[in-house]
Amino acid sequence: MGFLDKVTEITKSATNKAGNTYEITKLKLKINEAEKTVNEKIIQLGSWCLAQAEAGVVFEGEGAEILAEIAAAKKTIADIEAEIADIKTVPETPAEPAPAPAAGKKFCLQCGTALAADAKFCQSCGAKQE
Ligand SMILES: [Zn+2]
Repeated sequence: MGFLDKVTEITKSATNKAGNTYEITKLKLKINEAEKTVNEKIIQLGSWCLAQAEAGVVFEGEGAEILAEIAAAKKTIADIEAEIADIKTVPETPAEPAPAPAAGKKFCLQCGTALAADAKFCQSCGAKQE
């Protein structure tokens, strides 16, 4: 086999490999889709079983155990929701209005008159401000 033939051969093989990888990826995506369907249907099946149980159908063995666990979890949810409702019905103490910020103001140390932030003396009583 000549050098060029060999190169052609390698190139072809690489192309095939790339093609195969693409093909495999495509097929794996199909598997993922089918797996998603399986999982969705398992959940749907579970919901159906639960509806059956709630309608009075009696399950045995593992089915009964799983249904008991679901019932216990549902009770936990109901209990916690009731607890939350209790918390919410406690009247909230209204938040104290925040004192208005005395921006750029201070008050006389002596008489309490509002003064400019940079005032050295009180304009009312004349007390020195520091
Ligand atoms: Zn003053």
